[in-house]
Amino acid sequence: MGLAARILEREPTGKFRHMIHDEVDKWVDQIIDEVFEDGKQPTVMELSQLFSETKQKFFGACFQALVEQKYAGLLDQEYAPCPQCDKMCKKRRGNLKQMVTMQGPSALKRPWFYCVDCSYGFSPLDKALEISRKKYQFDVQKKSTRTVAEVPFSSGSELFAELTDQPLSDHFMHDTFEKVGAYACLEDVVPSQDEIATRCQGVNESSWRPVLVVASDGAHVPTRPKAKRNEKRGQGRWQEAKGFRIYLLGKDRIVHVVSWHQIQNEEQFGEDLSLVASRISQDNLRIGLLGDGADWLWKHMVACFPKGRQILDYFHCAEHIHKVAKLQYGEKSQKCLEWVESTIARLNYAEVDNVIWGLQRMKPSDSLTKEEIRKLIGYLQNNRERIHYRGDRIGGYPIGSGGIESANKFICHTRMKRSGAWWVKETGNEMLGIRCAIYNGTYDKVFEKYKKANSPQ
Ligand SMILES: [Zn+2]
Repeated sequence: MGLAARILEREPTGKFRHMIHDEVDKWVDQIIDEVFEDGKQPTVMELSQLFSETKQKFFGACFQALVEQKYAGLLDQEYAPCPQCDKMCKKRRGNLKQMVTMQGPSALKRPWFYCVDCSYGFSPLDKALEISRKKYQFDVQKKSTRTVAEVPFSSGSELFAELTDQPLSDHFMHDTFEKVGAYACLEDVVPSQDEIATRCQGVNESSWRPVLVVASDGAHVPTRPKAKRNEKRGQGRWQEAKGFRIYLLGKDRIVHVVSWHQIQNEEQFGEDLSLVASRISQDNLRIGLLGDGADWLWKHMVACFPKGRQILDYFHCAEHIHKVAKLQYGEKSQKCLEWVESTIARLNYAEVDNVIWGLQRMKPSDSLTKEEIRKLIGYLQNNRERIHYRGDRIGGYPIGSGGIESANKFICHTRMKRSGAWWVKETGNEMLGIRCAIYNGTYDKVFEKYKKANSPQ
């Protein structure tokens, strides 16, 4: 060995290089045994499978070698100050930490310290590396949580193993999900004021002032009370997840700003919307407020966005019209079609009073129809000021909440309404929170908070 090589070997990087070469040799031996046997002609799929099976061991060993060289100082440490009281503590023993990262399993023998005064055990290496107390490290926890935000816990476990070669139990995935979900609070799931400003600026590309659309609605989620141990599950019931989606309508594109949905009451919905409104600078925007006829959402949208143009969701409104038409004239009859068409045309031109006048003079075919006509009149009277679809179109405002409907379908229905799924309210809200974070691009931030709170001191 030349002098240069000998000097190099004393350096941690040189040592690391040697250790890795040893691991490569071991891996190559394994591959040679498997592949170069007489008569064997492995296919791409078989080779890929072989890599999957062997790489975990290889990378796990590399991982371990890297940590041992990079943090050699911490591995040899004899004394360390207690993180709680600063008292110098002597090393107790070497302690083996078994851990699994996305690269595979590895084991770290590192010194362990214990402060008698605080009854507190700690490892400075764990702090430096941000090692999770769980066996599966934060990189696995982050991907695991991301996975079960999309698919049920049981199939999530299978899918995860299938795609990553990491077998995780559905219990682990569920438990980790709940712990991470506890950090999916509104403050962090909503993008910051600066981030929102950047998104708004991106759309403000011409003299056309972009329209900020605030669309609210409710979706029903099947819930059940939390069952105590050895106790029968309580009766389930449907509760309303109230939420909103805020997006920007540019000249030819839609830019998502924020979504937020929770199983909650009206007051909480109002508080949440108000927090989000406080992060949006409303001065250079035109604002459109979209919703169905529910009073609770209008009250809060108007309070939070007083300059907003109120628009009754067109599709929701048209649904009411169709219902009455079918009852009164019979489905798909010529009269039914004509009446729907002329009524909607009037509503387009904001002639709400005209439509109400016509309804009041209608001779209902039966009592059910009479009741539906009465309801439609009330609905139109309540929302009179919000019906002006032609004007909305000319001004570049949306008339239907396709935006929130698709967000709702994506965030609520696809995961929350799977058959057989009943949600404990808290877990359901964590699920909604994580899914909104993913949709809003803030999942990294939420996970970082969880990681920080669960990292060693
Ligand atoms: Zn102490």
